[in-house]
Amino acid sequence: MQDFYRRAEFILSAAAVDHMPEDRGAEVAIAGRSNVGKSSFINTMTGIRKLARTSKTPGRTQLINFFALDATRRLVDLPGYGFAKVPPQVQRQWQAMIESYLSSRRSLRGVVVLMDIRHPMTPLDQQLLHWCRATGLPVLAVLTKADKLSRGAAAQTRGKVQRQLAAEFPQAATAEMFSTLKPVDPGAIYARLDEWLDVPH
Ligand code: GDP
Repeated sequence: MQDFYRRAEFILSAAAVDHMPEDRGAEVAIAGRSNVGKSSFINTMTGIRKLARTSKTPGRTQLINFFALDATRRLVDLPGYGFAKVPPQVQRQWQAMIESYLSSRRSLRGVVVLMDIRHPMTPLDQQLLHWCRATGLPVLAVLTKADKLSRGAAAQTRGKVQRQLAAEFPQAATAEMFSTLKPVDPGAIYARLDEWLDVPH
């Protein structure tokens, strides 16, 4: 139900687990390295052009951003990782916050892990997948910027990623493709979000 996601509204940005909205209802987190296309993904999936701009505000890039879909359902924008020149201390902070969020958040139903189709499964992507596996969280891998590869090469990468996920991260359902430029049917991605959030049809 794509229209459901158009209701998304920014709630707040949290720097720590105790600043987050009340842990009730259901939420889906969206994660990926910086520049993977996470803001574009959130804006496209909700149809709200500037929704994710809050996460681009300087000083807010290390925060967890919450968006309400309705009274009990939320989308959560996790801070991007893998910045080129991040000091080790900031890197550790990111890791601690994400790990604590993933392991303690009871309303979290699943994690969308965005990976650039040209270089998926980076060490930090795998770190994130490990945390999700450790906490038993379902994952949907989304390969962004699918327009950057030919159809054949994109399909080949998807197959390779799916095989690696099946072998190492069995809680990751599938890898879907996404692009803001090329028509790629996002139906399977909406279906997964609907399922996790139990969106009524
Ligand atoms: P974020 O840092 O992960 O939030 O990434 P952004 O959404 O800001 O996107 C980073 C850059 O990648 C921007 O220049 C976008 O225009 C570009 N981008 C995002 N999605 C796509 C896509 O599907 N295809 C292409 N070719 N570029 C994209």
